[in-house]
Amino acid sequence: MRAIVLEEPKKLVLKQLEIPEPGENEVLIQVKAVGLCGSDIHYYEHGKIGDFIVEKPIILGHEASGEIVKAGKGVVHLQQGQRVTIEPGATCGKCEHCQNGRYNLCEKVEFLATPPYDGAFCEYVVMRSDLVFPIPDQMSYETAALIEPFSVGLHAVSRGNLQEGETVLILGMGPIGLMTAAAAKLHGAGVIIGVDLEDSRLEKAKEMGATHVINIRTDSVDDKIMEYTKRRGVDVAIETAGSPAALKSMIAAVRRGGRAVIVGMSPEDESPLNIAQIINKEIDVKGVFRYHHTYPKAIELLSSGKVNIERMITDSYELEQAEEAFEKSIHDKQNTLKMMIYPNGR
Ligand SMILES: [Zn+2]
Ligand SMILES: [Zn+2]
Repeated sequence: MRAIVLEEPKKLVLKQLEIPEPGENEVLIQVKAVGLCGSDIHYYEHGKIGDFIVEKPIILGHEASGEIVKAGKGVVHLQQGQRVTIEPGATCGKCEHCQNGRYNLCEKVEFLATPPYDGAFCEYVVMRSDLVFPIPDQMSYETAALIEPFSVGLHAVSRGNLQEGETVLILGMGPIGLMTAAAAKLHGAGVIIGVDLEDSRLEKAKEMGATHVINIRTDSVDDKIMEYTKRRGVDVAIETAGSPAALKSMIAAVRRGGRAVIVGMSPEDESPLNIAQIINKEIDVKGVFRYHHTYPKAIELLSSGKVNIERMITDSYELEQAEEAFEKSIHDKQNTLKMMIYPNGR
């Protein structure tokens, strides 16, 4: 099979590899669509993210969907020919966090395209069968692949304990911010306010469910929030931009007794937060790391057709063009949102 291998930073090579064999309780999947994620781009450019360092050649890509071509021994709930989406993290199932349900915190997780584990920019992958979810006939492979980043939005909304009819502010309208807007809409949020500095992204935000948008180039977030919420503040504010300014606006925007959720990774490990406001307004501040138990829920929510997350796809490429995709996403941030790669052709 063909695979795109990152041999060293900025060096992707098309290789011929053996098609893997599914073992017990595993399935072999022909990969149909894979989203290009910010983390893939970071590994490509810098060869590492924090403590995760690319020390040997690696296949990137973890937002994937495909068709089952072979089921290994002991697989009962899946069969050849099924269209599926893939949850990319294989957790241990035994540790404290796996046992209490917050398996996203498992320290023994094997996550696709996180060193040393290979990802899905290749024609076939083998996955543990409990991480493979059949999708309805009417769901596209693109939407199925995007369930991975959508899951982050869904988890953010659930960490914020967003209730029907509530007001939510989302800072940063990159792919994760847009997914969070979509998740908030599908959760029944009443007012969804999107913030960014690119008008093109704010337009996309409206397609994903934002009822109000604020461009920070021309407007003050603080003033607009007071106007939109009649000085009450928002029930939930979610930061996906990874910027100190957005963190500041997040805390200022939350109503008394409201919730603040931090998803965006800032370049610095430490950022100042206004502790007096957190105390005085008794704000619950929460972090988000990946997600847990989101796939069945995501399939159900996205099947409603109320939001079409595929609309954030701006570019699509064959496997051979992977390097072009990576380079464009680095050099043309204004015009690109989500890119799709099709390992078995479009
Ligand atoms: Zn991702
Ligand atoms: Zn575990």
